[in-house]
Amino acid sequence: MIQAKGYAVQSAESKFEPFNFERRELGAGDILIEIQYCGICHSDIHQARNEWHNSIYPMVPGHEIVGRVKQVGAEVSKFKEGDIAGVGCFVDSCRTCENCAEGFEQFCQKHCAQTYNSTEMDEKTPTFGGYSSQIVVDENYALKVSETENLAGVAPLLCAGITTYSPLKKFNVGKGQKVGIVGLGGLGHMGVKLAVSMGADVTVFSTSPSKEQDAKKLGAHNFVVTKETENMKSLAGKFDFILDTVSAAHDLNIYLNLLKLNGAMVIVGVPDKPAEVHAFSLISNNRMLAGSGIGGIAETQEMLDYCAENNITSDVEIISIQEIEEAYERTIKADVRYRFVIDMQSLQQT
Ligand code: NAP
Ligand code: ZN
Repeated sequence: MIQAKGYAVQSAESKFEPFNFERRELGAGDILIEIQYCGICHSDIHQARNEWHNSIYPMVPGHEIVGRVKQVGAEVSKFKEGDIAGVGCFVDSCRTCENCAEGFEQFCQKHCAQTYNSTEMDEKTPTFGGYSSQIVVDENYALKVSETENLAGVAPLLCAGITTYSPLKKFNVGKGQKVGIVGLGGLGHMGVKLAVSMGADVTVFSTSPSKEQDAKKLGAHNFVVTKETENMKSLAGKFDFILDTVSAAHDLNIYLNLLKLNGAMVIVGVPDKPAEVHAFSLISNNRMLAGSGIGGIAETQEMLDYCAENNITSDVEIISIQEIEEAYERTIKADVRYRFVIDMQSLQQT
């Protein structure tokens, strides 16, 4: 076995502490990645604190992983030693079911082995995520990352990037369309950058008036403080597409009412409580309400290549692994600008 170091929580109430564990020996199709950076997604917080009521402990979160390939198995063809590789939200799936065959491995009908808080395909061996020194993963579930000076800015693409890219693509967001992004956090700021790069006219809906300048710097054309209800009323029926990235319970109806004829709203945020939707919010203007979950391997690779070509990275605050608790508290307070990324070198001080 390969010895790994990381940071784990032992229960929903406990704080992060150093944690030593083992990664499997390299199989013929596996690569060993020395992790350099790992983003902090709000899903890490939901799961570390058991807000989705499905947590397995000890838990080493982290599914926005980038690093260098340190070793490759005998039959690996996609990577060689020294390449940069990424790992997103899952590390395996059955590869044969309908959903896997269509490139939606995240919805594998048998079992999607998520990167952490999950099990391998044996449905027994726990998986541990990217708040750690290294990871062993099947090459088919690792992503190719182009050489870059800003690797920390690439890490969040593995979840925040694909989660926003996928619905924007699916709904053909582009020139001439009015797009709303609700919540300017990790996902939201990627949604803004991507929708702007696709040519859309982008409005940010935020509860934080202090984020207006940043929103404009990210490329947004308009910024609306959601507590100012008069502004919201004047925008009724104006939007083609709205992406809701909010992590806490909130009223969906006020955003649905902003959609024009045949407009669509996609939910990607996962508050711990269910939302109430009035039928009229959907019936008027023949509106659509949909959800979207991360993206499959092929689409994640497409997104990474798109971001490399268009010079899109995440705006990050780099922290040491000893600062996770503080980063969690700031993220919960919507005070992240706009993604915390852990520099894994800091593990050496543990
Ligand atoms: P984040 O960085 O914390 O951003 C969430 C943003 O939502 C905040 O910055 C804030 O923006 C807004 N917000 C927070 N509390 C709010 C409240 N009470 N009312 C209204 N707005 C509020 O989180 P994230 O990492 O982007 O993740 C967002 C959500 O997406 C989480 O629930 C996460 O689990 C989920 N997620 C889903 C997928 C998927 O596949 N569907 C993938 C990754 C993450 P403002 O300050 O601008 O208001
Ligand atoms: Zn995530």
